[in-house]
Amino acid sequence: MRKYVIMGIQGSGKGTQSTMLAEDLDLVHIAVGDIFRWNVQHHTKLGAQVRRIMAAGELVSDDLVEGVVKERLTQHDWNYGFIIDGFPRNRRQAEFFLESYDIDGVIHLELPDSEVRRRVLARRLCEDCGLDYNLIDNSPHEPGRCDACGGRLVAREDDTEQALAVRLRDYHSKTNPVLDIFRRKEYVASIDARQDKEQVQKAIREALQLPPYQG
Ligand code: AMP
Repeated sequence: MRKYVIMGIQGSGKGTQSTMLAEDLDLVHIAVGDIFRWNVQHHTKLGAQVRRIMAAGELVSDDLVEGVVKERLTQHDWNYGFIIDGFPRNRRQAEFFLESYDIDGVIHLELPDSEVRRRVLARRLCEDCGLDYNLIDNSPHEPGRCDACGGRLVAREDDTEQALAVRLRDYHSKTNPVLDIFRRKEYVASIDARQDKEQVQKAIREALQLPPYQG
């Protein structure tokens, strides 16, 4: 059983790296932002509660987030473990998490702010299947269309200059200090996220002493 947390600023590749780790290690990838986006897209009650907050780039309340994480983890479909992405985002969430779960390691993807803007503003998402693209180095074959399902590619509602400024501010003031809490208790592997995605994956696996990526 392997239990990891992946942290990093917006656009640092948490989703991509988590998916690569989850694939061949049979980990369940739990992305709190994806759960919220799914709820917004499917017009659920939870979606209605978080839609405007997310679009503005603000953080959803801790009570709602903790409820979602608790419910997801009680499904117990993670026989081989999980990798949680986008959580914890502040001190309270970190304390809540550490009270209930022991973790094997924290992956910290490091990226300078200057690179964040460039990456985030070039990010696109398939509105049907949710696959991620980046117009810098991972464009679809046909512009605006998903390679996997043909769905329309759209920018995330919070990938705008305005919302990004709010998200970066919160990341530096609230999320970054969580790393210090983890450093005191857990193993934190800091990885240079400027490298290409295969190199980042390799560095993560070396740091956590995991078998090489099978792709
Ligand atoms: P992400 O996909 O991780 O960038 O998350 C998208 C948005 O979902 C964030 O900007 C927040 O509005 C909300 N969100 C996701 N995870 C959390 C969290 N742990 N705490 C509060 N809000 C969150």
